[in-house]
Amino acid sequence: MLHIGCHLSPSSGLLKMAETAFSLAADTFQFFSRNPRGSKAKPLDEADAAAMRDYLSQNAFAPVLVHAPYTLNPCAENPSVAEFAELVMRDDLLRCTAMRAPYYNFHPGSHVGQGIDVGVDKTAALLNRILDASTDTTVLIETMSGQGSEIGGTFEQVKAIIDGVERNDRVGVCLDTCHVFAAGYDIVNDLDGALTAFDRVIGLDRLRFIHLNDSKFECGQHKDRHAAIGDGFIGIEGVRRIVNHPALRDLPFCLETPHEKLEEYADEIRFVRGLCE
Ligand code: FE
Ligand code: FE
Ligand code: ZN
Repeated sequence: MLHIGCHLSPSSGLLKMAETAFSLAADTFQFFSRNPRGSKAKPLDEADAAAMRDYLSQNAFAPVLVHAPYTLNPCAENPSVAEFAELVMRDDLLRCTAMRAPYYNFHPGSHVGQGIDVGVDKTAALLNRILDASTDTTVLIETMSGQGSEIGGTFEQVKAIIDGVERNDRVGVCLDTCHVFAAGYDIVNDLDGALTAFDRVIGLDRLRFIHLNDSKFECGQHKDRHAAIGDGFIGIEGVRRIVNHPALRDLPFCLETPHEKLEEYADEIRFVRGLCE
C-alpha cells in the first residue's frame, strides 16, 4: 500500500495532528519544527510527543517528516544569518531526538553570490557541527529547484554536501518532485533516466522521502511553484508513474500542494492512492 500524507500543523498538539492525518486516510505526514519563518519554538511537550509516537505505531504509520523552517539559510555569507540557521537546526535536532522523529528535512540554502562550492562547503560544515552522536534522527537534504542561487538544484551538489559530512550515515535525501522537475530532471518523459542519474550520483539508498507535488512551470524553468496533483506540468500520468515506480513506491510520500481545506487533502490522498497499480 502507498504511504502518503500531507503537510499538517502541530498547533493543536502532536497527537491531535496524528489523529487528523488518520482522519484524512494518511499514513504519514510532515510538519514544521516551529513557525515556518523560523522564530522561537514552543517547548516540546514530552507527554504529547510520546502519545503521538504510540498513536503512530498503533496505527501502522510510515515514518513522518519534521521540516526545518524554510527561511533558514545554512550557507549564508552574513555570519548572524548562518549562526541563526545553526542555532535553530541544532535545537530542532535535539527536539527531533526527544520526539524520536526519524527524519529532519531542510533546504541546503542559497549561496547569494558566494558561489556554489562555497555554499556546499558551508552547508556541509554546519551539518558537521550539529550532527553528533547524541542524535539518531537522520537529516534529509531536500532536492531544490535551483531557483535564484539555491544550492541542491543538481544531484551532484546534493552529493557534494553529503561527501562533506563526516557522519553521513546520518544524512539522507528527500526528493521533491516539483523541485527536481523545475531543476531540469524530466521525470515526466524519462523518470527512469532521472532515477538512474540519482542512483549513479547519490545512490538510491540515500533516498528516504518524497515530496509529491505537481509543478506550475515546465521542466528546467528553475521555478519553485507547487501545483495540485494533475494541475501542473507533471500531470496525472506523470504522478501515476512516480507512485508506481519500483524504486519509489515503498517510500513515504508527502503532498505539499496548494489547498485551503483538509478535505481537499483527503480527496487528493484518495485520488493518488487510486493511481496505484
Ligand atoms: Fe521543503
Ligand atoms: Fe518540498
Ligand atoms: Zn518547493
